[in-house]
Amino acid sequence: MKVLLIGSGGREHAIANALAKSPRLGWLYAAPGNPGMARVAQCVALDVSNHAAVVDFCRHNDIGLVVVGPEQPLIAGLVDALGAAGVPAFGPSAAAARLEGSKGFTKDLCREYGIPTAAYERFTDEAAALAYVRKQGAPIVIKADGLAAGKGVVVAESQQETEAAVREMFGGAFGGAGAEVVIEEFLEGEEASFFALCDGARALPFATAQDHKRVGDGDAGPNTGGMGAYSPAPIVTEGLAAEVMARIVEPTLRAMAEKGAPYKGVLYAGLMLTRDGPKLIEYNCRFGDPETQVVLPRLKDDLLDLMLACAKGALPEQPPRFSQRVALTVVLAAKGYPGTPLQDTVIRGVERVSALEGVVVTHAGTRMDGDNLRAAGGRVLNVTALAETVGAAQKRAYEAVDLIDWPEGFCRRDIGAREIARERA
Ligand code: AMP
Repeated sequence: MKVLLIGSGGREHAIANALAKSPRLGWLYAAPGNPGMARVAQCVALDVSNHAAVVDFCRHNDIGLVVVGPEQPLIAGLVDALGAAGVPAFGPSAAAARLEGSKGFTKDLCREYGIPTAAYERFTDEAAALAYVRKQGAPIVIKADGLAAGKGVVVAESQQETEAAVREMFGGAFGGAGAEVVIEEFLEGEEASFFALCDGARALPFATAQDHKRVGDGDAGPNTGGMGAYSPAPIVTEGLAAEVMARIVEPTLRAMAEKGAPYKGVLYAGLMLTRDGPKLIEYNCRFGDPETQVVLPRLKDDLLDLMLACAKGALPEQPPRFSQRVALTVVLAAKGYPGTPLQDTVIRGVERVSALEGVVVTHAGTRMDGDNLRAAGGRVLNVTALAETVGAAQKRAYEAVDLIDWPEGFCRRDIGAREIARERA
């Protein structure tokens, strides 16, 4: 079967690697892809915002499945356009992708179906929002309703910070995304990522992971897209996973089907594990980055089969199987990230790291310039290591990182630290 994979980041490189293992894969196209993906896929220049052009490409190239990596094309309705043309796709329709595209939609759905989440109110008026936060007090969380590239959330610690965040959001700091604001209760606990595969009617638990969002060691500094992750997340025990499925994921699937927007694809629940049980912080309608880089190398089953089953409404009875080994990934970013990263610097040594046993390098923001690999983005490379424990995976990952010659790059040095402390206890 011929597959078209949409995207160009570390997540998509990890998906490409997993698809490449499938005996059913005949040919893999990536649009636009990246230099790492070019080893397992044919990279094609396709304007993915032009749905007719993507449909055309699929028809001409006899594509049997389109896999959509990032959220924007899903929210823009690419899967709807493909569906109308009879091309199977992995990912939700635009109506179902509202679970990520509109925080207000998801909060209302949780309220309607009794799905545990932070208490909240929605506002379209600055004065009403200010009156509400004055009544509630800090800490409190202020969120732009729509997509804001992961930056539309302020966890405000003081009254002053809260009011500034409200004013900033209504002042257009996030463009259209902030025209509506969700204000919610601050939840205390540990965060974990939970992935479920969905076929419109049913969901299967897929995997768990924990990531590190802050740029600096010890969780210091500003938020980023993610500086590292590990999988599985042992804190999500089997019992807890069953509770997440029964109280959060399955009611969501039922709700979406009842609303005429059955959910297909991967449903990524960002959870807060509170004293009162797991609560939903947010949904994403696609795989996480860098979580995918630690989840997929552990998958024992055929990813192409599973994605097709999601697309066709035919998930198997049993959940997918994973290796018992731990995967841990360290993100290498260009100095300056998450502000203005240094661009175009040369990276050496990636080849020798990729050759190491139990180590995988995925490309997130790179480009080839003749024989030179150059940085082309904020987050640039992911070094993933597999081992028996988080501690051993961390050691192996940093040994590999240290073989990469890139003076203009940096990484966190403490990925997995909290879990390693628990392993030692
Ligand atoms: P989101 O984009 O909704 O995942 O929010 C980004 C980050 O803000 C989350 O990963 C949490 O660390 C934090 N956050 C969001 N909502 C809450 C909440 N209700 N209570 C505490 N922290 C939150």
